[in-house]
Amino acid sequence: MRDFDAAVIGGGVVGLSIARGLAGQGLRCAILDEGDIAARASRANFALVWVQSKGMGMAPYGHWTQRSAAAWAAFAEELRAETGIATGLRQNGGYALALSEQELDARRAAMMRLHNQPGWDAIPWEVQDHATIARAMPAIGRDVVGGVFCPLDGDVNSLRLFRALHASALARGATYLPDMPVQTIIPQPGGGFLIRCAGRDIAAARVVLAAGLGNARLAPMVGLAAPVRPQRGQILVTEKAAPFLHHATITVRQTDEGGVMIGDSKEEEPADTRTGPGIIAVMAQRAQRMFPVLGGLNVVRTWAGLRVMSPDGFPIYDQSVATPGAFVATCHSGVTLAAAHSELLAPMIAAGRLDPTLAPFSARRFDVPQAA
Ligand SMILES: Cc1cc2nc3c(=O)[nH]c(=O)nc-3n(C[C@H](O)[C@H](O)[C@H](O)COP(=O)(O)OP(=O)(O)OC[C@H]3O[C@@H](n4cnc5c(N)ncnc54)[C@H](O)[C@@H]3O)c2cc1C
Repeated sequence: MRDFDAAVIGGGVVGLSIARGLAGQGLRCAILDEGDIAARASRANFALVWVQSKGMGMAPYGHWTQRSAAAWAAFAEELRAETGIATGLRQNGGYALALSEQELDARRAAMMRLHNQPGWDAIPWEVQDHATIARAMPAIGRDVVGGVFCPLDGDVNSLRLFRALHASALARGATYLPDMPVQTIIPQPGGGFLIRCAGRDIAAARVVLAAGLGNARLAPMVGLAAPVRPQRGQILVTEKAAPFLHHATITVRQTDEGGVMIGDSKEEEPADTRTGPGIIAVMAQRAQRMFPVLGGLNVVRTWAGLRVMSPDGFPIYDQSVATPGAFVATCHSGVTLAAAHSELLAPMIAAGRLDPTLAPFSARRFDVPQAA
C-alpha cells in the first residue's frame, strides 16, 4: 500500500506550484520539505513575472515563459478564490532602464538578437526615450537615457504568493511534511518509490524532484541528472513610501506595500548568503540615479539568496527512463513560471508523461562529448 500517489520533494515555489497542480488533478500528494532553516531561494527573490529578456539561446524557454505570463492573471485569481490571499499581481508592463547610450544600445541589440532567433514567436517590445518613460514614471532621474519596455512584464508580492501556494495546495488536499529532509530514494521492483527521510519512510507511486539546489544530489538516485549550482543574488529594501514607481523595472520595483526593492546581483562566488557593502553600494547608487527620490529613503533590510542555476541557465524538466514515475523540475525563475508549473506541467506529471514540447528542457542537452 502506497502512502501517496505522488511525493513532491521540496517546499519552495517550484515544489508548491507543482504539488498544488497535482492535487488539483485529484492525486493524493505529499510535499516533503526541510525545516525552517534551509537554502530556499523562494524566500529571497525579487518577485518579477518577467518576459522581455527570456529565451536567448533557447527559443522554447521564451515560449514557455510567455505561456506562463499569459496564464498568470487567471492563476492569481484562482489562488485568491481558493485561499483569500491576493498575490498583488501587476502586469502593466515593465522596463529595463539604461543609464547611458551604450547601455541602451546593448539592451536594444540583445532584444534584436533574441527576436532574430529561428523559431521565435514575436512579443511586443519597444525602446523608449527618456521623455516617453517620464510620462509613465515621472519619478525617473535625468540620468535615465531610455529603456526597453515590454507590456507583458510585471511583478507580484512574492511572500504572499508563497503563502497562497501553500494554502491552496493544502486546501486541495495535499499533505505538507516539514522537517523531512530526504536522504535516499529507492525505486521499487514493482514500480513506485520508497523515500527515506530522517526518521520516516514514505511510499509513493510518483516522485517529483523540486528540491532546488538539493536536486543535484537526489536526481542520480532515480536515473536523472540536475547539474545545478548556486548563484548568489543580493537585494535591499527601503522603508515604505507613497507609490511612485508605477511599473516594475528589472532592478528596482516598489512592492504593493510601499517598500522599494533594489537588486539583484548575480555572483558566482562565494556560494553563501552573506551580503557585502561593495555590491550593495553599486546597486543602491544606480537605483538612486534611476529614481532620485530613493536618496531620501532609509534602507531597512538587505539579504542574499542562492539562485538555482543550470549550466546554461535554462530550466530542467525531465522524466526518468530507468525508473518511470520519477520527474525533475528546476529553474531560476520559479515565480514567473509558477502558473506554468501549476497549470501545465503538473497535469503532464499526473498523466505520467511530459509533453514533447518540453523535450528541449531535458538534462540530456548537457551530454555533449568534450573535445579531446
Ligand atoms: C536573489 C534572487 C532573485 C530572484 N528573483 C526572481 C524573480 O524576480 N522572478 C522569478 O521568477 N524568480 C526569481 N528568483 C528565483 C526564484 O525564487 C526561484 O526560481 C525559486 O526560488 C527556485 O525555487 P525552488 O522551489 O526550485 O527552490 P528553493 O526555493 O530553493 O526551494 C527548494 C526547497 O527544497 C527543499 N529541499 C532541498 N533539499 C531537500 C531534501 N533533500 N529533502 C526535502 N526537501 C529539500 C528546501 O528546503 C526548499 O524548501 C530569484 C531568486 C533569487 C535568489
